[in-house]
Amino acid sequence: MRTGVSRWHIRPSPLPRESVSSWLIRIAAAKGTKHHSLMKELAPGLEFWTRDGDLVASPELVRALAVKTGTPLERCRRTTLGAYEGVLAESISGANQSFMVVPLGVRHRIRKAHGQAFCPHCLADDTPYLPLTWRLRLFPACTKHAAVLMDACPDCDAPYQPHRSGFRHCDGCGLDLSALSASIAAPSVLVLQAHNEAVLDGRAVAWPHLHGIHPIAFFAIQLALFRAIAAKRWGKRVREALHPSIGEIDLDYRTANPSIRSMTVSAAHGVMRGVSRLLRGWPFGLVGPCGEARAWASWIVPEEPGVQTPFALRHVLDTYLRPGSSNAR
Ligand SMILES: [Zn+2]
Ligand SMILES: [Zn+2]
Repeated sequence: MRTGVSRWHIRPSPLPRESVSSWLIRIAAAKGTKHHSLMKELAPGLEFWTRDGDLVASPELVRALAVKTGTPLERCRRTTLGAYEGVLAESISGANQSFMVVPLGVRHRIRKAHGQAFCPHCLADDTPYLPLTWRLRLFPACTKHAAVLMDACPDCDAPYQPHRSGFRHCDGCGLDLSALSASIAAPSVLVLQAHNEAVLDGRAVAWPHLHGIHPIAFFAIQLALFRAIAAKRWGKRVREALHPSIGEIDLDYRTANPSIRSMTVSAAHGVMRGVSRLLRGWPFGLVGPCGEARAWASWIVPEEPGVQTPFALRHVLDTYLRPGSSNAR
């Protein structure tokens, strides 16, 4: 006999863009249950808190949540990062983790990396929860509070681990994170991110001059520009090209080996200011400053095995930003 197919009496519904881990934390709190007992009831034997649950949540867990909470299955599926497959990227999985998702570095239920960001003002809301965007590299701001997200406790530097000590407090030192004040995000980042959030929710790309392009291509262009700005060797040229319009971009990492996966969320906000600037007046916002700084196509998007450059970007680079092209004289 299958156990536990009946609905729960207490059954919070998922909130807008809420992640499955956040939903589970709220359900456990509402039922007064421990996380591991809840998981035993939903999907016995499933590794969730010892892995990156939002990334690897199994269909079995999603189905059990649908039954227990009386939530439509499709809505439940949209609480996992896999829901953004075909929108944010071709594939988003634990095995082949995209640069789009910032890793948690989970080891034995403890998180070593700072991949779960948070907005302190959202945590102070009546019902705090974690939207999936707080895991995504291209989404460094809270558009509700016009704030730059945080990814560590400012007192002890610990990663944010709401499954251990609740949404509002630091697991390392107990600091009330909801009492913190976040930096104000740049308007250009907020405009781009609000647009990107609508695309994640299923709207068409409506960015000027890139109107109607496939979401995967639009996000791939942003990621390519992000990587171009942050690149170890050639990124300096691109940052110089952006300097007159947006000033210095500070790159800051949480590991000795710089990677956009270990970049701080505050640095990612700085880089997204650059991405937003390069996307403005497409393609000339990219072509003008980069051509002037002699930042050529091969530096902006290096040829890498296995990495496909979206046609809309490749075409612009080939047309304008090759030594000898019309713009390069
Ligand atoms: Zn917020
Ligand atoms: Zn702390």
